[in-house]
Amino acid sequence: MTFDYDLIVVGCGPAGFSCAMQSSKFDKKVLVVEANSDHLGGTWINTGTIPSKAIREAAKTIHRFHSQFGDEKGRRPFERFQMEDLLQYQQAILESKNRKVKEDLIKNEVDTVRGFGRLTDPHTVEVTDTDGSKKSYSAEKILLSTGSKPRPPANKIASNTEILDYESILDLTHIPRRLVIMGGGINAFEYATIFGSLGTRITILNDQQDYLTYLDHEIKEELKKAIAKRQITVWNGVTVNKIEKNDLRNCREVWFKTNQEDRIQVIETEHILYFGGYEPNTKDIGLEEQGIGLTEEKFIPVSEHYQTRVESVYAAGDVIGFPTLASVSFVQGRLASCHMFDIPSKNSSDNIPFGIYTIPEMAGIGLTEKDAEKLDLEVTVGRASYENVTQADLNHINEGLLKLVFSTKDLKLLGVHIIGENATDLIHIGQSVMTSNGDIRYFIQNVINYPSFTEAYRIAAFNGVNRVYKAGVKYRNILNS
Ligand SMILES: Cc1cc2nc3c(=O)[nH]c(=O)nc-3n(C[C@H](O)[C@H](O)[C@H](O)COP(=O)(O)OP(=O)(O)OC[C@H]3O[C@@H](n4cnc5c(N)ncnc54)[C@H](O)[C@@H]3O)c2cc1C
Repeated sequence: MTFDYDLIVVGCGPAGFSCAMQSSKFDKKVLVVEANSDHLGGTWINTGTIPSKAIREAAKTIHRFHSQFGDEKGRRPFERFQMEDLLQYQQAILESKNRKVKEDLIKNEVDTVRGFGRLTDPHTVEVTDTDGSKKSYSAEKILLSTGSKPRPPANKIASNTEILDYESILDLTHIPRRLVIMGGGINAFEYATIFGSLGTRITILNDQQDYLTYLDHEIKEELKKAIAKRQITVWNGVTVNKIEKNDLRNCREVWFKTNQEDRIQVIETEHILYFGGYEPNTKDIGLEEQGIGLTEEKFIPVSEHYQTRVESVYAAGDVIGFPTLASVSFVQGRLASCHMFDIPSKNSSDNIPFGIYTIPEMAGIGLTEKDAEKLDLEVTVGRASYENVTQADLNHINEGLLKLVFSTKDLKLLGVHIIGENATDLIHIGQSVMTSNGDIRYFIQNVINYPSFTEAYRIAAFNGVNRVYKAGVKYRNILNS
């Protein structure tokens, strides 16, 4: 049987892009179908990862400058800078990233077509153009990587007023003085600390009893201090009853109660930002008709090789559910390509790091101290406060903690947990040591650039070794073995 292409990729976010690129390197003829007529790059470049991180960088720069040099007129950041300044900073980055994606596809001879893709048989994708015209393309393999969109509130709680989501917040015309954020996940805390750093008064209404429960307990304590410093208030166990506009007071009112108290509280705010998770783009793409089906949570079910119930059709990225990250989608797209074209490839290690781009940022990998306790492992921790890291002094940064969790017996590194500047980069040093089965002596026996944030590893390793020594193991033996 002959096909128009070896591979058709439906949706050009990180999963689709990496699958297309990897397949082109295998000398495969690839077509990318993208529904967005303006941009390739999906949520990754246009509404999620990159825009939020670009605005964050702009906010960090403003905050750092402002806290170090102040303002001659005593203005707060949101009085001095406009949303337009942040959006301009962001726009240049989005344009450059979109351009690079387009150029990479062209350079690698990947064809692209704009329109809505739908599977019509195991080897055919029908593409509907914006003017309604349809054209079909066939391929030996197909990847569904249509991503996700913001999930709206389940109940109709807002009358006569708008609730923002991660797409519409990018249309704000000014930096709000007050912002209520509904949600208790990563995105809620990222946006809270971005606007909190600009002087916006933030209230987070979290419907769960707690938040970010997988963080190491000491990192969470540091986060709590950091958010309190930025005047961010968090309410847990919240039910929002209604949201309405108060024209008289020119504000929006959020009526809520917590499960601790019966009384209804009302907060006045300028805007409400809602983070209720992601809704996979699985509607009308031919899943039911082709027998691919959906999981209970409405994601596409796949095997460990990202293959759906139809042998020639694969799926990757947000459409297959957890962990819905660009970082993971890149890997999934590449691994799907290797499997579809029979190219051997090692699956990545089970130890997946996470990065949370709050200000200050956080990252972690492996066991927390409490995880190790639950597993009855004998572990010791080593800590480095950023107050002792010279590079942090140079940057005028006094918040941050790097924590190593290691086996007391043989010093093997079992976990790294960081809050502070460069945490999302620093974590990969710990990841390298862990994936090569290394121990904390690595950070003592190797030269580490000075000054650098990496020095935190050396300080934490010495701190850890001192504790083991106190626990009765001979120092000399530790460092010589
Ligand atoms: C605010 C926010 C911040 C985030 N921050 C991070 C972060 O810091 N780090 C991180 O790793 N992840 C982050 N993420 C998650 C990350 O953006 C997503 O996990 C990632 O973009 C998913 O990639 P994807 O390839 O599945 O799809 P997407 O990036 O969603 O792209 C899917 C593409 O498919 C297209 N499409 C949809 N349906 C069709 C169709 N039928 N036919 C043709 N094309 C179609 C869409 O137009 C889109 O271009 C963040 C997300 C949000 C919302």
